[in-house]
Amino acid sequence: MKSGIEEENHLNVRTFLHNRYRLIVPLSIILLFMVIMVLYSTRILYKVTVSNMQQVGQDRIVNVANKLENYLFMTKSVLWVTSDTVEYMTENGYNTEKILDYIIEATVKQAEEFDESYIGIYGYISGEYLDGLEWVPPEGYDPRERSWYEIAVREKGEVAIIPPYVDAQTGDVIISISRMLSNGRDVLSMDMKMNHIQAMMDELRIKGRGYGFIVDETGLIVAHDMEEKKGTWMNETPEGEEILNLMRKYGNGKLTYSFRTKGSTIFVSRIMEQWDVVICVSDKELYKEIRQLLLINILICFLIFDMIAVFYYFGYRNENRYLRRMEEMRLEERRQEYETRMLKLEKDAADQANQAKSNFLANMSHEIRTPMNAIIGMDEMILREAKEKNILRYAAGIEGAGRTLLSIINDILDLSKIESGKMELIPVEYDFASVLNDVVNMTRTKAENKGLSYKLEVDPEIPAVMHGDEIRIRQIILNITNNAIKYTSSGGVEIQISFRQEEKMLCVRVSDTGIGIRAEDLDRLFSNFQRMDETRNRSIEGTGLGLAITKQLAEMMGGSVKVESTYGEGSVFTVEVHQEVVGDEKIGDYSERHMKSQSEAEEFRPAFIAI
Ligand code: ADP
Repeated sequence: MKSGIEEENHLNVRTFLHNRYRLIVPLSIILLFMVIMVLYSTRILYKVTVSNMQQVGQDRIVNVANKLENYLFMTKSVLWVTSDTVEYMTENGYNTEKILDYIIEATVKQAEEFDESYIGIYGYISGEYLDGLEWVPPEGYDPRERSWYEIAVREKGEVAIIPPYVDAQTGDVIISISRMLSNGRDVLSMDMKMNHIQAMMDELRIKGRGYGFIVDETGLIVAHDMEEKKGTWMNETPEGEEILNLMRKYGNGKLTYSFRTKGSTIFVSRIMEQWDVVICVSDKELYKEIRQLLLINILICFLIFDMIAVFYYFGYRNENRYLRRMEEMRLEERRQEYETRMLKLEKDAADQANQAKSNFLANMSHEIRTPMNAIIGMDEMILREAKEKNILRYAAGIEGAGRTLLSIINDILDLSKIESGKMELIPVEYDFASVLNDVVNMTRTKAENKGLSYKLEVDPEIPAVMHGDEIRIRQIILNITNNAIKYTSSGGVEIQISFRQEEKMLCVRVSDTGIGIRAEDLDRLFSNFQRMDETRNRSIEGTGLGLAITKQLAEMMGGSVKVESTYGEGSVFTVEVHQEVVGDEKIGDYSERHMKSQSEAEEFRPAFIAI
């Protein structure tokens, strides 16, 4: 079987673990929930932002492509109109001079219409090279070998955009737009600088990110965000080649799409079935905001989690404190219960022992009292009948010692009766003067023998006959009077007796000029077997029971005992007891009564009365 402490420790460990789980489990669940929430919201946020950015990219590319297409369409239209006029002039027999004039005039006129990108119109008409800017070609220059002528012938009357070339003189990238006339021989062409188109590259950005370029179907970069790349070939760099391959794989006609390469997204839009307008932006740049948003999202979630954890922790700590306090209170309650039980057991045991002691004392006292009465009775016989002085002296000694012993035994018997609750008052009608007579007879000689003055003051208003326990009244007065005599060596004792009519209280006040009692001893004066100032009083006979019995008796009679004392000067004991009054007769002058009773008593010497 486990001991109490082991069990308590086991319980404590279990409570500790239980408390730990109470903190860890809910926090883990909240953390898990937060992580799921972060992942879920991140996923949604990512999707939304990605599709948003895709949309922005596609809008931008379509926008720029449309602008470019419009621009090219306008230039095509100009060439179309001009070439139609030239065709009309050749068909109607205009000579080449006239046609050149027209071309020069048209060049000047279009320069006013177009921006500075526009260069001029020229052509190969009726076997001659005619130039609107009146440029004179070098020796051996054959227009039919130029790409603008060749491509226009290949396109059979459709307006063709000739791949750009870099002008050797100016370094400008130039494109030509050509058209073959219906005679199948003459070609009219128009040159434009790429400046306008190049200017559009700034627009080929997504929120200022990435770069844009235009590439023709041969892979030549027509325009590029970085000017130095303009006029170079896509396949010159591995990255460019990869982009070109992807565009060839996915791109067909005018379409807008995006694909990813090496962590980049590319938006492509085909125009005029010849050029691809491209925006290339690295994912790192494109999704910069997403990453920031995700980071903020995660931070906020963890901040919330931290706050929840902190609040939860404080709540948990307070609850723990409360539980601990409750536990302490419970333990304290149990401890108190245990102590009360132990005290009760101890008290019961002590009561039992005390009861046994009281029983023993009562039995012993009773048993001793019977032979003692016999001894004193026999001694009384000796005192009456013996003639020899020696014998009479011995017998008187026996009587004194016997009476003292008997009074001690009586005290012990009284005490055990009081303790066992068996002390009973036996009220009778009695003559108070006779009680006083007994007291005086039994105490005055003692006082006088010690050379003490003995004064008795009796209030004449005291009822002559009262109803109460006469024997115990006598015992009380005797006790305090005897004490006064016992503890006084010089001076005297004074007994004052009065009666308070209204409360029917008999008051006995005994004062002496004796040794007095220390103030600190007053409290235990009325406890059993307590004797004060033992070293000083060693020679004075006593058991320490008299006052305890007096107090108990007085209280049983609805009264009390009070003491006032000055150490070394004397004491005053006042006993009050309730007594019923019988009749209206008052005690009157007691000393007179006493004298009378004394003279009557002398006629008859009472024998020893066994008690
Ligand atoms: P005891 O038999 O010792 O006289 P009591 O119960 O009558 O026992 O008195 C208790 C103690 O009170 C005494 O031992 C004594 O020290 C003190 N005492 C009682 N009466 C007086 C008194 N009148 N003057 C001084 N001391 C007294």
